[in-house]
Parts: sequence; C-alpha cells; structure tokens
Amino acid sequence: MTEEYFTDYPTEPIGGRNPYYRCSYCKGSVPEINGYLERHAKWCEYRIKKEEILTKMTEDELYSRFKQLEDRINELENKKFRLEYKIEDLESLCSRLEDKITDIGWRT
Ligand SMILES: [Zn+2]
Repeated sequence: MTEEYFTDYPTEPIGGRNPYYRCSYCKGSVPEINGYLERHAKWCEYRIKKEEILTKMTEDELYSRFKQLEDRINELENKKFRLEYKIEDLESLCSRLEDKITDIGWRT
C-alpha cells in the first residue's frame, strides 16, 4: 500500500523472556510490524488514525494538483486568445496589402 515506514506508534515491552516491544494498541510485535502500517491489525487504532491522515494528505495533494492544472489551462486559454487576436491582426494586414497591390496594379 505504501512505501513509507512508520515507527511512531506507542510501544510496550512484550514481557516475560521476550526482549522485544509491541504496539500498545494491537499488540503486534515491533520486529513483525517492521515499520509496515499494513502489519498492524486492521482494527489497530494507530493504523486507522495513520491511514486517515494519509488519505487526507492524498486528497490535499490531488486538490493542489488539480488547481495547478486549472491554472495551466487558464494560462493556455489566454495564450490562445492572444494568438487568435494576432491572427486577426495579420489577416486584416494581409487584406489591406492585397487592396494596395490591386490599387497599384490598376494604376500601372
Ligand atoms: Zn498496532
């Protein structure tokens, strides 16, 4: 699901002769979890909260990307408008030149 490693969950010693720690919420051992969010139990409070944050971040990223694209489209539309305006200018210049050439042609 994600390439990131998460180790900021609360831990507690497993106890007995076991030297390792475990997640305070789902009791998965730290070596088993090994930083993978998916290795916490599905109902683990830490996992659920973390997944919520990650989903929210993705939504924010998508929104900011969408805004960027929207700005780019506006920019391109402005450019297109300016180019169309320039083409109209050129067309009118051409037609004036043609008129002049015809004028000169008539006179000679
Ligand atoms: Zn957990």
